[in-house]
Amino acid sequence: MCPIAMEYNTVYSSSRKSLNNNEEWDLPAAEKSLLQKIVRTGLVTSKHDIEIQRRDPNSPLYSVKSFELLKLHPSLLKGVYEMGYNAPSKIQETALPLLLANPPQNLIAQSQSGTGKTAAFVLAMLSRVDPDNQHPQVICLSPTYELAIQTGEVAAKMSTYCPNIRLRYAVRGEEIKRGSKLTEQIVVGTPGKVLDWVTKYKFFDPAQIKVFVLDEADIMVDTQGHQDQSFRIRKILPKTCQMMFFSATYTDDVMRFANAIAPMSVIIRLRREEETLENIRQYYVICNSKEDKYNALVNIYGGVTIGQAMIFCQTKKMALWLAKQMTDQGHAVTLLTGELTVQERIVVLDDFREGKQKVLITTNVMSRGIDIEQVTIVINFDLPMNVDREPDYDTYLHRIGRTGRFGKRGIAINLLNGGNDLIIMKRIEAHFSKPIVCLNTENVDDMEKLGAD
Ligand code: ADP
Repeated sequence: MCPIAMEYNTVYSSSRKSLNNNEEWDLPAAEKSLLQKIVRTGLVTSKHDIEIQRRDPNSPLYSVKSFELLKLHPSLLKGVYEMGYNAPSKIQETALPLLLANPPQNLIAQSQSGTGKTAAFVLAMLSRVDPDNQHPQVICLSPTYELAIQTGEVAAKMSTYCPNIRLRYAVRGEEIKRGSKLTEQIVVGTPGKVLDWVTKYKFFDPAQIKVFVLDEADIMVDTQGHQDQSFRIRKILPKTCQMMFFSATYTDDVMRFANAIAPMSVIIRLRREEETLENIRQYYVICNSKEDKYNALVNIYGGVTIGQAMIFCQTKKMALWLAKQMTDQGHAVTLLTGELTVQERIVVLDDFREGKQKVLITTNVMSRGIDIEQVTIVINFDLPMNVDREPDYDTYLHRIGRTGRFGKRGIAINLLNGGNDLIIMKRIEAHFSKPIVCLNTENVDDMEKLGAD
């Protein structure tokens, strides 16, 4: 057994011992992450949508549902399929087109462990390498020896059919004769060792690096010296070098680190369901007819200074009626329904995204896949229900998840038509275990409370 594999097995078995003793919560974050990777047998899937923040409006934003659409090198595609990946995971759907776009884009991506981040950046690293050039072109930093080995192993598997792509570990125990130069295209290692290799020993030329990946950044921020070492490496890389920053959590510390390493990035996040409702205040208003609901809506709209609002109706007919009412009374609204062509939808969404319209009325059909960064209020003109008139929890989450994004506070208001709606709403409240508070839109105090959110 080679020395790397031996040491790696020792770490694995000692960690497993801790788990057997029910001491998993005492494990350091890096070890926990490693264990998760080792014991995981497949993807962790998330029901929630990706949220995207685009600093540079020219960055491409689209998602792919198949690996073929990414136009990968055939040998790489073969490797991907052989690993049993049939289709991109949710984070990969959005991350991969960005990571592979030309000119290269910087990306900051956050999603829980197991959602496919490693596979995404490994695929991007391998795609960017020019196998004919025998020098490092990609640096990938991991917080520990063991995590670096894990990443290297994924790269080795994925590049099975790309024999000319080679990888070098820059981790403890790896020694190189002074004065030599690396010929491998990819360097995967820990920050201290990589920094030494590139600055002190000059084993490779940083000017040739095209891709800089920083993985498990949340673990790095907790490790003394890692941030500083990563910055020092980053500073000597070319301005055109593509930065890819990955983290399982989204804290202020991580984001400060991320923005310093990868400025002007597209930021993508895949929230867990329970995180979605954290920044959102939910209310309900009792009404007795659609006209009543309309009046409540006008009170809300006129009573508080709101940014942008999305209003969801159950049917196209209701959406049309509401849009007409609002337009007739001089409100600037825009309508998005399933019957628009793709081109028309893009125009409507772009106008709304740019703030040309303040209110977007839409139907269930459109509750998914819309990505608007700045929605401050979501109004359920009708509660989401399935055909059996049972509460549709997923749609509720998707709808109100349009607000409260990237840590901003959001408001969601449900307009109820009578007692049956109240029962449905109570079931939604119980399902998510988050309070939905009664709001009287005629009451000045209530409306002030809303405005203070
Ligand atoms: P993360 O880096 O977010 O922890 P990984 O990239 O390690 O996630 O992926 C988690 C698990 O899912 C791994 O076992 C990996 O092989 C597998 N995996 C990754 N992408 C896909 C995919 N598109 N299809 C199926 N399995 C995948």
